Amino acid sequence: MIRPFKSEPLVDFSKRENIEKMQVALAKVDKEKGQSYPAVIGGRQYMTEEKIKSVNPSNKNEAICYAASSTYEIADKAFEAAWSAFKSWKVKSYRERAYLLLKTAAIIRREKFYFSSLLVEEVGKTYGEADAETAECIDFLEYYARQAINLEKKGMEVSYTEDEINDTEYIPLGVGIAIAPWNFSLAIFAGMTAAGIVCGNTMIMKPASTAVMVGAKLFDAFQRAGVPDGVVNFLPGKGGSLGNYIVSHPKARFINFTGSREVGLHINKLAAEVKEGQKWIKRVSMELGGKNAIIVDKNCDYDNAARTIVASAFGYQGQKCSACSRAIIVKDVYETITDLVLKYASEITVGAARTPGIGMGPVIDLNAYNKISSYIAIGKDEGNLILGDMPEESEGYFIKPVIFRDVDRNAKIAKEEIFGPVLALIKADSFEDALDIANDTDYGLTGSAFSNDRENLEKARKEFHVGNLYLNRKCTGALVGIQPFGGFNLSGTDSKAGGADYLLLFTQAKSMTEKL
Ligand code: NAD
Repeated sequence: MIRPFKSEPLVDFSKRENIEKMQVALAKVDKEKGQSYPAVIGGRQYMTEEKIKSVNPSNKNEAICYAASSTYEIADKAFEAAWSAFKSWKVKSYRERAYLLLKTAAIIRREKFYFSSLLVEEVGKTYGEADAETAECIDFLEYYARQAINLEKKGMEVSYTEDEINDTEYIPLGVGIAIAPWNFSLAIFAGMTAAGIVCGNTMIMKPASTAVMVGAKLFDAFQRAGVPDGVVNFLPGKGGSLGNYIVSHPKARFINFTGSREVGLHINKLAAEVKEGQKWIKRVSMELGGKNAIIVDKNCDYDNAARTIVASAFGYQGQKCSACSRAIIVKDVYETITDLVLKYASEITVGAARTPGIGMGPVIDLNAYNKISSYIAIGKDEGNLILGDMPEESEGYFIKPVIFRDVDRNAKIAKEEIFGPVLALIKADSFEDALDIANDTDYGLTGSAFSNDRENLEKARKEFHVGNLYLNRKCTGALVGIQPFGGFNLSGTDSKAGGADYLLLFTQAKSMTEKL
């Protein structure tokens, strides 16, 4: 029997021994830098002349790795291999497939410092942020394994007459594509892929180019666990051209995408078109961006609210879809909260992600650095800058915490996803006004409200229109199996990753009746 699901414990980095384990793992990653990773299709490797290069965001002169820039021909082979593997994979029991997820989880757990070190070096996570992601990756694998076993038991229907048996079986869809973002290139990628395969689908894994080594090592863990060739296929390549090709492909049955709104909506459009030879409507699940707010009421724990705003806004440099980018503060406590937020944010240290105890690492790459810088410039016209400034040229893509106060609810920096360490402080007339401002966005991913007023908390429960609402706590850090995750409106299709219904998205229900 499998033990009940429980969240993977986090590593305590206040202990010297854990810092040392991390440094040993970082040294191992250092030795592997500069290697090349091929596409792996049906167990066969394909390297291309043209390669993708992944760079260390803490040290932009250092190449983390190179990877195949997969061609359309390689992509075609991936669809062939995946459909061929589907024939035998789809008839395996949920239990048999689930055990392979548990095995993958066990491998990653045993090597957790190594996986976390990869995240430190390739995507610039601090030790704590990297460990939390590795734990989330393990949780997704463990949780979906258990959910799959439950799914097998589901579906016995009542009989209409005595001489009739009715049942419903949840069968897989076919070949799916998992397209991952770089910011949760291990956990989200693992979850999107594992959910597909455990239901009997076969998958093409398309990693983000800035996190291609993390993707390659995750794929390797699936292989080492014994997931058969062709059931998962690793297809690195250029987001734009290769991405367009695979999502438009007539042999793609479903697409599981996590990334930006712009790319997500583009994929949704491409996927809607039925290509010659295509026999189905592609199923698309997508989790996109956010413009998340924390509301602060006049009656609450001010210190806790301010610390939480800072943690939610600047954790992983603000590069979480769930990050707080607007603090909406009721006017009575605006000055108090602003002072406290400024105080705590000023204490954050910024530097190479591998530095033990550092508060913030770099942003992911030059594009992000330029985009965030342009929003800082816009913010200077839209609000009063009270912390940080335009970033200075250095060895990595470092941007110190930036805070603007007195930002208008309609300002660009109050409306658009910046995806970096930039926080807008907005004054509200009342709690109701704060809710109205919070909801005045195209997005609807996460939100949080701090209040000791029961009525206001109830108002937030009813009216704060977000997929993940938190009361008197931070708006980041959803846990698998505890806070199913997914957004409303243009934040996505609300697929609720890590939730009890998630796996159903990758199945179709077959209803069967037998007359006895
Ligand atoms: P992105 O949209 O730029 O890229 C995501 C993935 O799509 C990458 O693998 C990329 O190569 C690929 N891609 C790019 N163009 C494509 C195309 N035309 N066809 C197919 N694939 C294509 O996003 P990103 O910068 O990697 O990630 C950051 C974004 O992701 C932010 O907006 C963030 O809010 C969002 N995000 C959302 C969630 C969530 O659960 N809601 C979680 C993490 C990140």
